[in-house]
Amino acid sequence: MKKIPPFDLTRQYQTIGKQISDAAQEVLASGGYIGGSLVESFEQQFAAYMGVSECLSCNSGTDALYLALRALQIGAGDEVITTPLTFIATTEMIAAVGAKPVFVDIDAQSFNLDLAQIATAITDKTKAIIPVHLFGQPMDMTALMKIAQAHNILVIEDCAQATGAEWAAQKVGSIGHIGCFSFYPTKNLGACGDGGAVVTNDRSLAEPIRMLRDHGRRSGYYHQLTGINSRLDALQAAILQIKLSYLEQWNDARRQIAANYYQLLQPVPGIVIPQETDGGRSVWNQYTIRLTKDGRTSSYRDQIRSKLQQMGIGSMVYYPLPLHLQPVYQDLGYQAGQLPVCEQVCHQVLSLPMFPELSFQEQQQVVYQLKDCLVG
Ligand SMILES: *Cc1c(COP(=O)(O)O)cnc(C)c1O
Repeated sequence: MKKIPPFDLTRQYQTIGKQISDAAQEVLASGGYIGGSLVESFEQQFAAYMGVSECLSCNSGTDALYLALRALQIGAGDEVITTPLTFIATTEMIAAVGAKPVFVDIDAQSFNLDLAQIATAITDKTKAIIPVHLFGQPMDMTALMKIAQAHNILVIEDCAQATGAEWAAQKVGSIGHIGCFSFYPTKNLGACGDGGAVVTNDRSLAEPIRMLRDHGRRSGYYHQLTGINSRLDALQAAILQIKLSYLEQWNDARRQIAANYYQLLQPVPGIVIPQETDGGRSVWNQYTIRLTKDGRTSSYRDQIRSKLQQMGIGSMVYYPLPLHLQPVYQDLGYQAGQLPVCEQVCHQVLSLPMFPELSFQEQQQVVYQLKDCLVG
């Protein structure tokens, strides 16, 4: 039987490859590889898509988070509340600016921060919250902004997995003070290399971010801030412009695939399937189920995963170990059992194949084999 990968970019290239390579050729022939009109026009197009006034592109989603934290002047002595279920870039950049990550447990159904527990983690050092719209599922931004406003806390949205997702008919990334995006190839809007962007409606933040990403200068060789070098190159900007025009179509295809999985997985006991929160419109960067037979160890999930692998069905585990228990954060002093929901979820999660070009027949095969593994 044909193998089914968890993710496949070659199929996308088969449909838009000609457009991509023509645009790339044009950039290569132009001799202008850094900055220039393509980067500026992409920033304008992305800002318009997001419904914001400012878009500053940069080299990665990781850099976007760093630039956002720096622009908001978060640093030594500050605490930043975030989720233990995310890619490490979120907390890495909190640490990179000298601040301390503070973890709050998650809600098992949405995989996002548990709103009810955020208030208990707020201290007089809390400067910001970084919600992560994990797997493309937006978190309740109305409730989160209320908490943030009540405590005078800044909100940086990590939208790396949620380009195009909406909360209450507003694009995520445009609701908090700053939104951070990644154009890593496997994200919903992915480049053919690294890329990222920061978006905001706050004019006063655009200027420092523009300077910070370019060695702390406005122009020439006069430097006002300690910056970094973080640019989106012209090649990626040209490719992203083309891909942005397909984003809604691709996100719709992901929604259809999620709806299909929902139907196909309905009668399967022992599986919790993901569902959109009321008010949220997910873009399904991942379709992540939970295998609930055992929440104390990951052995049951790992067993199912390797059986699937033997049948030619690829799947992924996001994430096997919560951030608060990672060796790198030993010094923060978290203990196993302290964030029990996240810890259990990490033993149960399994992300099934999800990409816009996945066919219905392939989905049927995935679910057929999964059911087989669960009874066998
Ligand atoms: C991918 C990702 C990032 C980092 O983006 P890069 O472009 O790879 O640097 C940050 N946060 C989350 C949640 C991500 O998934």
